[in-house]
Amino acid sequence: MLNFLYPARCLLCHLPGRAICQDCLAALPRLPRIRCPQCAVPHTGLANTRCARCQLDPPPFSACTAAFSYAAPLDQAIHQWKYHGRLVWTRVLAESWLETVGPLTELPEALLPVPLHWRRLASRGFNQAGLLARHWGRALDIPVLYHYAKRLRHTRQHARLGRSERLQDSETIFQVRPLPVRHVAIIDDVLTTGGTVSALARAALTAGAERVDVWVLARTLHPHT
Ligand SMILES: [Zn+2]
Ligand SMILES: [Zn+2]
Repeated sequence: MLNFLYPARCLLCHLPGRAICQDCLAALPRLPRIRCPQCAVPHTGLANTRCARCQLDPPPFSACTAAFSYAAPLDQAIHQWKYHGRLVWTRVLAESWLETVGPLTELPEALLPVPLHWRRLASRGFNQAGLLARHWGRALDIPVLYHYAKRLRHTRQHARLGRSERLQDSETIFQVRPLPVRHVAIIDDVLTTGGTVSALARAALTAGAERVDVWVLARTLHPHT
């Protein structure tokens, strides 16, 4: 049973050993070290300075912790995990993230996984953000708020909307019950435009959060294209 859950071969190169071997772990596409602390986009400025976009039009979340860039072979791994139900990836991806981000400071009081619309949850059978939150919550001893956020409908093509439309649109995507804590981290697998996590962050702030962070496995490197 344990072998089934956590195979004794590397999922990427199939060599016997850990579920992801040291070589394959080292070869996962990491984000460049100099990146925006607020949205995790790499930039060419000084370390620990925000990107131009966050300075001009800051997102509603305070910080983004991401480990990887959404590129090969991680993109295929995430695809197998989410769309082909290869749940063995949950632990591998969650642990690789923990190993890569290193010790975290200013831990949130609770984790808030991005919920799926109930129809998508029914067809997929699991919520990948919830699985990550469970793993990270256990590893870091942080409670997970599973049933506080509800997705009212599928996200529209957020990036195509203007700013005011985006704001209006996001108000109706998520509903969050009054939160029992002030500092939460939203959990998702991949950050692309940031539209989804921004919408949930706004809903969490409305529901009583004072600080919202974002933790994602990976972010795309060309979020605005
Ligand atoms: Zn390997
Ligand atoms: Zn930024």
